[in-house]
Amino acid sequence: MHSLVCVKQVPDTTEIKMDPKTNTLDRSSAPTIFNPYDAHALEEAVRIKKKFGGKISVISMGPPQAQEVIKKCIEMGADEGYLLSDRSFAGSDTLATSYILAMGIKKIMEKETIDMVFCGKQAIDGDTAQVGPGIASRLRIPQLTYVEHIQNLDLKENVVIIHRKIDNGYEVVQSKLPCLITVEKSINELSFSPLPNMIRGARYKAKIFGINDFHADLSQLGLKGSPTSVRRIFPPAQRAGGKLLQGSTDEVVKMLVDKLKGGIIKCQS
Ligand SMILES: Cc1cc2nc3c(=O)[nH]c(=O)nc-3n(C[C@H](O)[C@H](O)[C@H](O)COP(=O)(O)OP(=O)(O)OC[C@H]3O[C@@H](n4cnc5c(N)ncnc54)[C@H](O)[C@@H]3O)c2cc1C
Repeated sequence: MHSLVCVKQVPDTTEIKMDPKTNTLDRSSAPTIFNPYDAHALEEAVRIKKKFGGKISVISMGPPQAQEVIKKCIEMGADEGYLLSDRSFAGSDTLATSYILAMGIKKIMEKETIDMVFCGKQAIDGDTAQVGPGIASRLRIPQLTYVEHIQNLDLKENVVIIHRKIDNGYEVVQSKLPCLITVEKSINELSFSPLPNMIRGARYKAKIFGINDFHADLSQLGLKGSPTSVRRIFPPAQRAGGKLLQGSTDEVVKMLVDKLKGGIIKCQS
């Protein structure tokens, strides 16, 4: 059983500030952290490895500093880490990011099979939740999104049954392997890393792939391969404070109806 987990180093969004001049995130203002959803994706792969054996690889696209996130993954129980890092990857939107990551995964698959690809539900900086499905489409494998429980993994039949979160409940879905899963944080609780893993993580050096390691279509990556762009980022305008209606039910209903009527009249005028 070979699980591959896509992991992203993200700015800590609780600390990040906006650049008021450019309306973009001031990434230098915040420390970087391991995308929390990806930690749960890795934890699930670790649990599967404990049950079925096999190995776990992790892959990240990012600047050289993203090595840190890979070291953290080794500490948490991954066996191998790959970093896709090249100047030509800079400026990639979600379409281009999924192209680059799929290219990296295909490169690993030239040498070994991958049974399951794990992603977080979303990255806490971009928040689009598009990269996982983008990778699955490019690899032409089924995608199971918003997964909060793996009910059964049958390696003889090569199938997995999962619960995916939907409004007011969950949906049970069966898929053939290989497939790609994006996980909710509720899928598991993170466990502590044993000391030998911590030492291995601290010493680990990821395998780095750059553009020359692939037969890449340059028009599909970086700024050139990114059909979307961020025009403006801004915090939503603060709403005026609400008003608490007080009194008997009859009085409150009358007040509410008057308010609604007032609103409707205002809207119409
Ligand atoms: C319109 C638009 C324009 C952008 N322009 C730029 C730009 O010019 N420059 C720039 O630096 N960034 C840019 N970004 C940000 C960049 O595209 C995203 O950081 C990246 O595409 C990942 O998208 P996301 O953060 O929404 O990830 P999501 O889709 O929310 O992530 C889902 C999961 O995919 C996996 N994943 C996502 N990204 C990576 C990664 N890099 N490595 C490994 N796994 C990953 C993780 O498992 C993650 O949990 C742009 C984003 C958008 C939406």
